[in-house]
This record gives sequence, structure tokens and C-alpha cells, in this order.
Amino acid sequence: MALNKKEQQRYKRHLMLPQVDETGQEKIKNSRVLVVGAGGLGCPVAMQLCCAGVGTIGLVDFDVVDVSNLQRQLLYTEADVGKSKVQTARQRLKAMNSEVNIICIEDKLDRTNATEIFEKFDIIVDATDNFDARYVISDTCVKLGKPHVYGAIYEFYGQVAVLGGEGPCLRCLQPQPPKKDEIVEAKDVGVFGAIPGVIGSLQACEVLKIIIGAGKTLKGRMIFIDMLNMTFDEVEIPKYPKCISCGKGEN
Ligand SMILES: [Zn+2]
Repeated sequence: MALNKKEQQRYKRHLMLPQVDETGQEKIKNSRVLVVGAGGLGCPVAMQLCCAGVGTIGLVDFDVVDVSNLQRQLLYTEADVGKSKVQTARQRLKAMNSEVNIICIEDKLDRTNATEIFEKFDIIVDATDNFDARYVISDTCVKLGKPHVYGAIYEFYGQVAVLGGEGPCLRCLQPQPPKKDEIVEAKDVGVFGAIPGVIGSLQACEVLKIIIGAGKTLKGRMIFIDMLNMTFDEVEIPKYPKCISCGKGEN
């Protein structure tokens, strides 16, 4: 679908970029992106994608807004406490950009529903806060050959990577999730206010670059950001040929 007059005005600053142009903006409009998790990361990811004009955004979350979310989850207000995250997010996002189709999936993502949900989208954004969901996302993206835009936050630190598709997967990096007794639950970990906004925006940036095919994405690379000391590091994530998910499965 081509851009109409209104869209040409709205996305003027995108159209000025030769890497986006009208062709790229049409691609953004015709794309379908799933955001798993509507919390600290999911809010900025969804807001950036909505403003940028992604035609269809899916949101998966089964939670309600808690007062302790308001310190960093940018889509919610005091009046939303106790309300469904995805339904509230949908209202806010529609107010930002009424042309964007927001699909709410008010459910917990697991191995029984992931394939059916992911099939309807082009790119999957991991905006979750637990290993169970991350491994379901990674395995399902490998199975369906879809890009997996990974983001994680912890205290003052964040990570972003592009996995899935033809590239490495989460199991290439870490074959199995840590054992339950080695994990501190997300609700028991502090997060500095602005950190999820930074990481979520970087994830959205990677999604948009994948859609328009511009520049060099974080495919096969992970960025580590220490925002307490404001340093950035990068490591390569090689595709592991014997990976149990995306390789021959001999490890
Ligand atoms: Zn792998």
C-alpha cells in the first residue's frame, strides 16, 4: 500500500532520509511486529514503532498495571493501576497514531501458543523479563525463521542483540537457561528509571532497520551498556553449528 497525502506529511522527516524514503516508509507501514511483554522494555518499543508508522503491532502480556511499574513503564498513568496492560497500551498507542493497528494478546506466552501467535508477524521483539519466555521466543523464532530482537535490563545495565532468522539464536550463546535456584526473579531486581527506555528504543531502532534493510544491524552481535559508568561494549555471537535449536543439535 502506497502512502497517502496525510502520511507523506506525518512521516516527512523519515522521507527526507535516503535510507528510508517513500519505499522504506511503505515497508514500515506494511510490516507486522510482535512485542512480547508490555512492561519496561515493551512500552518504549511499542511507542517508537507506533510513532514510526509500523502498520500492525501485536502486544503480548497477561499482567495488570502495578503502582511500582510507573517509575519506568512509559505508557501507563496513575489512573491505570489495576487495569490490563495491553488494553491500556492499545488506547495510548491509538491516541499517538490512530492509523496503526494494535492487536492485544492478553495471554502468557508459552510453548503451546507461541507458534500460532508468531506466525502472524514478521519480526518478534523480546521485551520480557524471564528466561522461560526468552527461550520460548528464541526457539519459536528459529522454527519459523523470524528475526528475534533481544533486549534485557538489570539494575544500571542493558543488552541488545538481533538473533533468529539466519543468524545465531539464544541457545548458541547459552544452550540452556540457568537453573531456577540460580535466578533472581525480575520482581526482586532493581532497575534504574531511564534504562528500559534506552534499551527499548535501541530494540525499536533495530526493528526499523531490519524492515527497511538499512545499515548494519546487531545481527550476531550483542551490545552491553553500563549506564552507571556510561560505557558500551560489543561481543560477537557466532552461530554455533552444533546448537540444539538452530544447528545440528549435538551439544
Ligand atoms: Zn542456535
